[in-house]
Amino acid sequence: MKTNSDESKKNIDSLMISVSGVRGVVGETLTPELLTRFGAAFGTYMNGGCIVVGRDTRVSGAMVKHSVFAGLMSAGCQIIDIDVCPTPTCQVMIREAQADGGIVISASHNPVEWNALKFFGGDGIYLDFEQGKELLDIYYKGEFNKVPWNEIKVVEENPDALDVHLKMILEHVDVETVRKKKFKVVLDSCNGAGSVITPRLLETLGCEVIKIHCEPSGYFPHNPEPIFINLGDLSKMVKMSGADVGFAQDADADRIAVVSETGEILGEEYSLAMVADSVLSLRKGDIVVNLSTSRMVDDLARKYGTKVIRTKVGEVNVAKKIKEVGAVIGGEGNGGIIDPAYHLGRDSLVGIVLILEYMSREGLKISELAGRLKKYYMIKEKVGIRPGQHRRILEHFEKKHKKESMSLLDGVRVDWDDTWIHVRPSGTEPIVRVIAESGDPEKVKKLCAEAIAEIAAL
Ligand code: MG
Repeated sequence: MKTNSDESKKNIDSLMISVSGVRGVVGETLTPELLTRFGAAFGTYMNGGCIVVGRDTRVSGAMVKHSVFAGLMSAGCQIIDIDVCPTPTCQVMIREAQADGGIVISASHNPVEWNALKFFGGDGIYLDFEQGKELLDIYYKGEFNKVPWNEIKVVEENPDALDVHLKMILEHVDVETVRKKKFKVVLDSCNGAGSVITPRLLETLGCEVIKIHCEPSGYFPHNPEPIFINLGDLSKMVKMSGADVGFAQDADADRIAVVSETGEILGEEYSLAMVADSVLSLRKGDIVVNLSTSRMVDDLARKYGTKVIRTKVGEVNVAKKIKEVGAVIGGEGNGGIIDPAYHLGRDSLVGIVLILEYMSREGLKISELAGRLKKYYMIKEKVGIRPGQHRRILEHFEKKHKKESMSLLDGVRVDWDDTWIHVRPSGTEPIVRVIAESGDPEKVKKLCAEAIAEIAAL
C-alpha cells in the first residue's frame, strides 16, 4: 500500500491523460511535443474556432502556453491570450468574448513542478465526460486539422480579463454595505493567479488588505492546496494583525479556505457551508454539491426547507446540475463555490465577496457565523491501488453495506444517521479516495481506518 508521502516522492507515472484534461510534471512527462498535439487536438475538436487561453503563475506556464498555441494555430484557431489569470476569470472571458471554448494552463492545487491543461466549452463550463472523450479520440487518432500558411491567425492579446471579471463580480455586490465595515483581511494567494486581482477586489470593497504570498511569481511558498497543513502562515498573520478574517486561495484561485479572527483554520468544507447559509437566507432554492461534500449542507437544507442534490465529483458535474435544476447555490466541499447568479464556475473571488457580505449583513464575526453550523469531523485519505483493482474494491463495499442507505453514482457512498463514508476510485490516478464524516471524531477515525485496511487486504 502506498501512502500520501510515498506518492509525492515519485513522478515516474506522472502523466495523467483523462477526460478531465492532461496533467504532468514539466521536464519529465509534460513535454512541448505532447502539449502541441493537445493544442492541435482541441483546435480540431473546436473546428478552428475562437479559443480563450489563460494560465496561472507557474514558471512553466509560458513554455506550456507557447506549445499549446502552436497546436491551436496549426488547426486554424483564433486565440485570445489573456495570460496570467484565475481559472474563473478565463471562464468569464469565454462567455464575454463569445468564444467557442477555452484552455486554462494550471495544475491547480498540485505542487509547483506540475502543470496541466483544462478544457472548456463555449458556455465557460469544463468539457463533460462525453465531450472529453471525443477530444481524447481526436488526440489518440492524431488526425488534426491543418490550415495552410495564409490561414494561420494572429494571436489577439487581451489585457482586460481581470477588469472584466472584477466588473462582473462588483455588479452583484452590495459594495456600500461591505465598505462601511472597513474589514481588515489577510490574504494568502500562494503567489498564484489570485495574487493581483484579489487585493484589487478587497480594496474596492474598502478592506485593509494584509498580503502574504501575493507576488505572482509562480514560486509557491507552500503547497498550494488550501488545506489545514498549508495555512499556518495565514493563521499566524490573522492572529498577529488582529484581522477580521483570512482567506487562502489555491494556485488558480478557484478554491478558497477561511481562517477566523481567532486564527482558527476553519477547514475548506466551511467555505461552501457558510456561503450556502448566507445565500439560502436570501433566496429560496436547491443546493447542488458533489457526493464528498460535508453534511453541513444537508443541515442547512433542512433549516431552509429545501433540498440537496448530490452529483459525481468534478466541477463540470456540479455546474451542469445547477443549470439543469435551477439551484441557487452549489459547489464542492473542497472550497469550490459556485453561485449561478455570478457564473457557473468555482470562483474564490465570488466566495470572498459572499462571505464578506454575510459578515456585513449579520454584523457577526466569522467565528460566530461558523459556529452556527453543526461541527462534524471529516477525514480525507487516499490509498494507492494496482491497475484494475478498483472494481474489486467497489464490489467489496457494495456487498458489505448492502443493507445500508447507499449511493452508487460515483464509487460507493454509505450513509448512517450522522456519519457517512465515500469510497471512490480517482478518474486520473491509480488511487482510491476514502472520505468519511461524522459528528463523532472516534467513529470517523475507526470507519476510515477499517476501510483502508480492507482495501489493503483485497
Ligand atoms: Mg484549483
